[in-house]
Amino acid sequence: MTEKRICILGSTGSIGTQTLEVVRRHPARFRVTGLTAGSNARLLIAQARELLPEKVAIGDENKYHEVREALAGRPVQVLAGEEGIREVAGDPSSEMAVVALVGFSGLLPTLAALEAGKEIALANKETLVVAGELVMHKAREKGVTILPVDSEHSAVFQCLMGESKASVEKIILTASGGPFLHLAVEDLEHVTPAAALKHPNWKMGNKITIDSASLMNKGFEVIEARWLFDMPPSAIEVVIHPQSVVHSMVQFRDGSIKAQLGDPDMRLPILLALSWPERLESPWGGLDLTRPAELTFLPADKKKFRNLALAYEALQRGGNMPCILNAANEVAVRAFLKGTTGFRKMSEIMEHAMARVPFLQEPTLDDLMETDRQARRIAEELIGK
Ligand code: NDP
Ligand code: MG
Repeated sequence: MTEKRICILGSTGSIGTQTLEVVRRHPARFRVTGLTAGSNARLLIAQARELLPEKVAIGDENKYHEVREALAGRPVQVLAGEEGIREVAGDPSSEMAVVALVGFSGLLPTLAALEAGKEIALANKETLVVAGELVMHKAREKGVTILPVDSEHSAVFQCLMGESKASVEKIILTASGGPFLHLAVEDLEHVTPAAALKHPNWKMGNKITIDSASLMNKGFEVIEARWLFDMPPSAIEVVIHPQSVVHSMVQFRDGSIKAQLGDPDMRLPILLALSWPERLESPWGGLDLTRPAELTFLPADKKKFRNLALAYEALQRGGNMPCILNAANEVAVRAFLKGTTGFRKMSEIMEHAMARVPFLQEPTLDDLMETDRQARRIAEELIGK
């Protein structure tokens, strides 16, 4: 039995804290050697005192002294800023990086971990939305496996085990449909952040919860699947499945469909990503199939949920278009949460940015950084009007 040394980037968030629950369940199997947070110094300090990783990093440089003082006398090196997070990501003390950062902030640390040849357990889907081609190219170059944490992609990954790529007809991603599934399109205009933050099946960080309500999350997951499984967009379908029990499916050439089922509990896909190719014991699974009275499936309405259509469009156009979509969405979600833009206006902000930011067919990493800045500026200008 070998111990896997891991760093957790974004350890104070929803996925980060659940990753720590998985680690605590299997203390002989996992050792945490690095932790990072954005600004939650208090929780980072508590985690570092418990786990004594070799390095921790706090994104907010103003909190550096607080973290350093709290950990004085302990064998933990404290770093700060984006550079500090990248240092933890690339540090040789860990052999796997769990990327649980949110949004564009995950891209450079993921690349740093790949550069160091580490296995990646990827929750941060925006990294593949922004730079899927570049990231997958780097993973291939380094011979690194990217293991999906996202429940849908973990399901697809499991359905594909033992199958050849040539036998796959299509990937079918399931979506709960979020809290507004049955709302008329006109009523979407008036939904509040509080209503959008009430996800029917999952408890997650705020950004992904809003993305789930707008189906932007599902659109991002289509892009994520395109890169993780090297499938064309036309072979990735979305169906609404309100119970979130079937986590996703794969249809094969002979018409047969494989599905992966489980309770909606992120600790299960996290555990699999950390332990693959093994499966470790868990107290969280054991779905009772007699409990959700029925499993239902409906087509996804891309007219009502415009963001899903925008994601397919961005993927078809390729280049820096998904990066533009992601940046404008980050700005739009933040504004929606602050009450400075409406729910449906978020789609308009993205469309506006997609039309305005110069299109690049084969962007470099620097081009993507610049695209991200431009798209944010354009989105902010529109909201400011
Ligand atoms: P949270 O907002 O709960 O956590 C985000 C983590 O990243 C926190 O540790 C936060 O630190 C840190 N962070 C945020 N912004 C920055 C920044 N600019 N620089 C450095 N660190 C930062 O998000 P989730 O855990 O919900 O989601 C993480 C990722 O996983 C997302 O990409 C999401 O789409 C994906 N995902 C999440 C699922 C879920 O169930 N939550 C399911 C599937 C995918 P701090 O706490 O200090 O702010
Ligand atoms: Mg998901």
